[in-house]
Amino acid sequence: MHKNFSTLNIVRIGSFITFSSLKEIGEGIVQSFKGIIKNFELTHHDFSCIESIDAYLLTMVLDQEYGGHTLGITDADLQTEDADEFYNSIFGGKNPKNDVAVVSTKKLSPSIINSHKEYTLFIDRTLKVALHEIGHNVGLTDHASYKKLHNGMLCPMSRGEYNKFGYIGYVKAIIDGRGLSFCDECSYFLRTIYSMN
Ligand SMILES: [Zn+2]
Ligand SMILES: [Zn+2]
Repeated sequence: MHKNFSTLNIVRIGSFITFSSLKEIGEGIVQSFKGIIKNFELTHHDFSCIESIDAYLLTMVLDQEYGGHTLGITDADLQTEDADEFYNSIFGGKNPKNDVAVVSTKKLSPSIINSHKEYTLFIDRTLKVALHEIGHNVGLTDHASYKKLHNGMLCPMSRGEYNKFGYIGYVKAIIDGRGLSFCDECSYFLRTIYSMN
């Protein structure tokens, strides 16, 4: 028996994203995980203004407060022990010991958001990183190299070479290149385990 992931708690830490955008992200997640995640609940978590936090610590705090299948979205930098030495922070992470995934929007925003287009791009990136981390929650693993979908976009579980691009280049090349549906291999896994439609 697999776990029941049907309801996702989406917890906002910081107030950089509007609730209506959070709702859009939640709807995007439900759309991409058809049949596995059926609904979501939005919550705001008050954490006094923090610049950076250890990713695992944050997953543990959220697990204790909310429990169950949870996605935390923070504007703080996410640190991790095995972070890339050079960049020293991550876009998203997941604690294998619980069902909590976390995403940091810190490095996802275009340098300045002063147009609707830039804000839309920012929300799109946040959704794509969220899909990847939630993918880990439901048991998917990283594709070490790019895995293309039929439409030419990358599978959300694709990982690229971080160092080669630098993080801004990585965001543009890998995260922006990801699509919103999973490749055949990932879809097969999800169908087999969860009878995802
Ligand atoms: Zn991953
Ligand atoms: Zn895939």
